[in-house]
Parts: sequence; C-alpha cells; structure tokens
Amino acid sequence: MDNFVALRRRVMRRCVFALNALALRDDRLPRDGAFDAAVANGLAAIVASESSGDELENKRTQGKRAENSRRVKSPLQLVETISQKQANWTSPIRAVVLASLKEGIEKAQPVRHGKADEEWDVLDEKHVEALVALDEHPALQVLDDLDGKSFAEAVTVLYWLETDRHYPADPWERSQIPEPACCDDCGRQTLVSEGFDAFGIGPGEGVCVACGLERTYEDTVADRLRWKIGDSK
Ligand SMILES: [Zn+2]
Repeated sequence: MDNFVALRRRVMRRCVFALNALALRDDRLPRDGAFDAAVANGLAAIVASESSGDELENKRTQGKRAENSRRVKSPLQLVETISQKQANWTSPIRAVVLASLKEGIEKAQPVRHGKADEEWDVLDEKHVEALVALDEHPALQVLDDLDGKSFAEAVTVLYWLETDRHYPADPWERSQIPEPACCDDCGRQTLVSEGFDAFGIGPGEGVCVACGLERTYEDTVADRLRWKIGDSK
C-alpha cells in the first residue's frame, strides 16, 4: 500500500500544479490562491524527485511511521532548499525563475492568510510566467498533457504516465494491471490497483488517486461476498 500512497502523492502534486498553472496561464482564476497551490505542489514534486526527503520538514517524532507523519515544507522553505541544494541536481531551476516564484509567494501570502480583503489579484504576469516555466523540470512536464482536462481525467492521465515509468514494460505483465475502477467514495473512475483481487474478478488492493480512499484486502473480500449473495450496492 505504501507504493500506492507514494504514487498518489506524485500524481496529486503534478495534478494540482498543472490544473492551477493552466488556469492562471489562461487567466481563468485570480492570481493568488491558485498560485499558492500550484507553486507549493510544483516545488514539492521537484524537490522530492531530485532530493527525496528534503521536501519534508525535519523529523520531530521517531518510530516506524515518522516518515509518513512529517509535514511538507512551506513554499518559501522549498525555495530555500532548492537554492541550497540544486547545484548537484540533474535539472536545476533557473535563478530568474526561482526569484520570481519567491517574490510571488511573498506577495500572495497576505491573501492566503485572509488579511487583504481588497487585494485578490496581487500577482503580475511574470509570476505566472515563472510558474509555467517550472513545468520544464522533468518531475513535472504535465501542462501539455493536462491542458483542457477535468480533474478526474487529469489524475487518470498522470496515473498512466507514472505507471509507464514504474511498472513492467512486458506486455503480458502490463495486461495484469486492471483499468482504473469506480471509487466507492468519490464516484470517479480513478481507483487504481496493481492487479486483480484474489478471486481474479475485480480490482485488488489499491487507492483512489483522486480522493485517496484506500482499498484493502478486506474490501476485496467484502465485495466478493456481496457479489455472491447478490447484494448489489
Ligand atoms: Zn475516490
């Protein structure tokens, strides 16, 4: 399951970056909250791919689940981390882009904290251009693929892009990965799993890449029992 949690995290970061960045690029939203969401997720995706673990705040708790309970750094902290570490990265971010993003984050901050009642559209075109330029990094490169897509379509596209990189290339092995199924919780066709259930009928254990619902082994057994006694939900 950890595999799926990590997969969903990568999918969601790229998705939230892309859908917000596209809306800003096309002037479909005010330039503040969407900028904040896009930059936070875009930077986290980049840091996680270049220097895994550095996107998280320092460990405060010890123990088995400490890694999962660590918070993601704030956008300004992520900019700082990138400035310090990117000299050795495969794809550094241009200084001019990073500077514009930093300025944009600082300008958008009063809006995020609800302190600027009359200032909803506080950023300039150059901040949006810097955001769009972030997409050049290999950890993102999603704007072309997600242009015009709904949220459910976007997470599904990203899931297949991710699985292309992380799942076997062998056609037979790939055929053992079911198509995304309908999620019981959010109703989208975005429940992904690594294989079929133990009965070879429905999707096995997995996660909804859209809402995060986890499908456990017990869920697959419960579905099978319901199917057997004809109790369709
Ligand atoms: Zn769902």
